[in-house]
This record gives sequence, C-alpha cells and structure tokens, in this order.
Amino acid sequence: MTTINLADRSVDLGEWAAATPNAAEVFAAAVRDWLEANLVGDFAELRGRGGPGSEHEFFAERLEWDRHLAAAGWTCLGWPVRHGGRGATIEQRIIFHQEYARANAPARVNHLGEELLGPTLIEYGTPDQQARFLPGIVEVTELWAQGYSEPGAGSDLAGVATTAVLDDASGEWVVNGQKIWTSLAHLSQWAFVIARTEKGSTRHRGLSFLLVPLDQPGVTIRPIQQITGTSEFNEVFFDDARTSADLIVGEPGDGWKVAMGLLQFERGVSTLGQQVGFRRELDDIVAIARANGSIDDPAVAERLRRAKVGLTVMEANARRTLAGDIVSEAGAASVTKLLWGNWHRDLGELAVAVVGAPSLIGPPATTEGRANDITDPENVELDEWQRLLLFTRADTIYGGSNEVQRNIIAERVLGLPREARA
Ligand SMILES: Cc1cc2nc3c(=O)[nH]c(=O)nc-3n(C[C@H](O)[C@H](O)[C@H](O)COP(=O)(O)OP(=O)(O)OC[C@H]3O[C@@H](n4cnc5c(N)ncnc54)[C@H](O)[C@@H]3O)c2cc1C
Repeated sequence: MTTINLADRSVDLGEWAAATPNAAEVFAAAVRDWLEANLVGDFAELRGRGGPGSEHEFFAERLEWDRHLAAAGWTCLGWPVRHGGRGATIEQRIIFHQEYARANAPARVNHLGEELLGPTLIEYGTPDQQARFLPGIVEVTELWAQGYSEPGAGSDLAGVATTAVLDDASGEWVVNGQKIWTSLAHLSQWAFVIARTEKGSTRHRGLSFLLVPLDQPGVTIRPIQQITGTSEFNEVFFDDARTSADLIVGEPGDGWKVAMGLLQFERGVSTLGQQVGFRRELDDIVAIARANGSIDDPAVAERLRRAKVGLTVMEANARRTLAGDIVSEAGAASVTKLLWGNWHRDLGELAVAVVGAPSLIGPPATTEGRANDITDPENVELDEWQRLLLFTRADTIYGGSNEVQRNIIAERVLGLPREARA
C-alpha cells in the first residue's frame, strides 16, 4: 500500500518522488492498484478499445472513463500543479504509460488537448486563457482538434491560406478558409487554428494562432472516410466563423512561433506512451507466430528479430533523449518521429505476414452477423491486424512526413545545404 493520496491534485508528484525512497516502485504500484480496482464493471469492456484506426469505438464510454481518470487525479500528469497538473517527472509519466498499457486500458480521448494544446497554453498563453481553457482539458469537459493542414498547406505549412480579420465592431476574429485531415473535429468542441491575420503577408510571417469554437453556424465539418473504412478525420470549412478577439495565443502575426512550439510537443514527449503499446503489439504478433508455426519460417523469424531490435533501439533513443532533456534540441524530435513512424508501419506489414492467408479475408462476419464484403466499405469489418496494416500507412505522414523529418535533420543538425525552394 502507498501512503500518498494520489487523488489529491495538490500533491506535486515530482516533489513527492524527490523526497520518497523507492518512489518509482511505490508510484508504479499505486497506478497498477488503481487501474485494477477501477477497470471493472461497465469500464471492463473498454479494455483495449480505441486508438489509431479505432477511435470511433466506444467513444462516449471512453469519454466517461477519461472523466473518471480526471476525478482521481490521473490526467495532465506532466503539467505543473499550479496549472491543474501533477508535476510528474518523465520517469513517472513513463511508468504511468507502462502500467496503463499493461492493464490494456482504453485509448484516451483528448490527446490533442492534454499533450499538445495544454503545454502550449502553459508556455505561450495569457493567464486568462490558461484559467479559461486548462481546467476543461484537465477535467475532459472540452475536446480539441488541430486546425493546421489545408488542401494547399501540409508539409509546407507556411502556405496556410485561411484568413482571420479582426472585426472592431463585434470584437471578434472572423475566420474564412478550409482545413483538412482535422482529426476528431466532429467530436470536439474547439480547434486551435493557424490563420493568416496580416493581409498580403506570405509564408510564416503574418500568421496567428487562434482558438475557435466549432459549434457555430460558420463552421461545417465533413468526415473523410479512411482506408480503414472509418472516419476519424475531417474537412473543416470556416465561412465567417467567429471567435473572440482575446482568443489569440501569442501576438498577432506571431503564430508561427506558437505553432512550431506545439509541434515540438507533438513529435517529442507526447509519444512516450506509444512505445509501451508497440511492445504489446509485437508480443502479440510473436505469440501468433508461435501458435500458427510461422515463426519456423526463417524469413519471418528474421523480421521478428529485427522488429525486436528496432523497438529496443527506439526505447533507448527515447530514454537517452528524455534523460538528457534534449527533447527540444533541433532534430531530436525528428529522429524520434522517424524511428517510431517507420518501425510501426513495418510492424503492420509484419503482422499480416505472420497471420498469413487469413489476413486476406478477415473475420468471417461482422459483429452484427453480416457477412464481410470488402467491396463495400460500409459493410466490412477489419480484424486488429488488418486495421494495423492499413492505419500504419499514415504513421509516416502525420505529425510531419518522413521526408520532412529528414530535411530537418539534414539542414538543422547536419548543417547540409538547404533544399532548393520555389
Ligand atoms: C491520420 C492522419 C491524421 C491527421 N490529423 C491531422 C490533424 O488533426 N490536424 C492537421 O492539421 N493535420 C492532420 N493531418 C495532416 C498531416 O499533418 C499532413 O498529412 C502532413 O503534414 C503531410 O501533408 P500533406 O498531406 O498535405 O502532404 P504533402 O505535403 O502534399 O506531401 C506529399 C508528399 O510529398 C512529400 N514532400 C512534401 N514536401 C517535401 C519536401 N520539401 N521535400 C521532400 N518531400 C516532400 C511528403 O513527404 C509526401 O510524401 C493528419 C494526417 C493523417 C494521415
């Protein structure tokens, strides 16, 4: 038993750890005990639900679970206590993710709020913005979407064409334009949006970082169907959408700095939890290979060995980066993104190779008892490994594509000549 009252948000976990012998073991036991005691009843059926390619699964129930976590003090662990977080160390955050994955607890619903916008508001937001928005993230009462990409601005984000004009009469920004690939916008109340606020400006100058409510007449959200058959991301259209004048983070025209600060969070520490999930996926695939005998195929065995080595390298890199607190150094986040994106995409291919012929046809029937029909996206149900294969094609694209990460490493770390730009 632990003597620390983890439900008490006023306890600074980092300070507690510094003053406590065997803090890591005590903390791990506390998390494990809590998950065991709470993933029961209606929550028990959420084990293993959600996650990339399956975000639609049990969304309302997972939202309820996240609020349950929040009430017990388990959200926003890494944030400072004065902002509603727990002041957890990186080691404690890793432990939490490990125990969470070990318990097969469901995928969280407000990753973008907790891991991306929250830390950005803490760094760049005004006290009023922090007071207005951080509690909603901590308590999981407001969900957030990321309005960066546009049809003409993905890798080349500085090509953003969405505009926002300050209307002095109403004291509001008036937003016009289109975003695309906006994950979970259809389930979110707010989006953080990069918009051009200086008329005639080009590239990264003249952009601003705005907080925009999604539930208003000027916003239209259209889901996009993915290769998995599900629709986790959307097109978002702004037609004279409005947001209050004070909901700009940073100075007008200085949005690029804020937007890039947020991307460091996206490509760095926020990926901590993933690797624990990766290890579980790999362990499951090895178990299938043993059960169906495919592990006796030397080619499959070699690929499994390589996957294991890759995972170990990735974990070592993450620990080295985080221990040295060099997450924010140029290139560190890009190396991390490259490593996990490619490893995980390869794992999707390995999974179906291990499963073998059955992976071509999928489960015999959907949960409603209908036959699978792969020509009809509405009527097809993928198994876990088919979903992994299809969804992981996106891993080397979102959060910055392979090519973009390599450019960053080449130019900012290795000092190679910049690529020619139009
Ligand atoms: C699952 C998923 C979820 C997403 N969620 C969000 C979200 O919530 N919010 C959001 O704003 N965006 C989101 N995105 C969008 C994502 O950030 C973009 O897809 C990504 O930045 C790439 O942009 P693009 O799709 O426009 O491709 P492009 O930029 O058009 O790139 C096309 C190809 O050209 C390559 N390329 C581009 N520039 C260069 C260069 N200079 N040198 C070499 N090669 C280059 C790219 O690597 C890529 O292979 C999501 C994407 C996916 C797949």
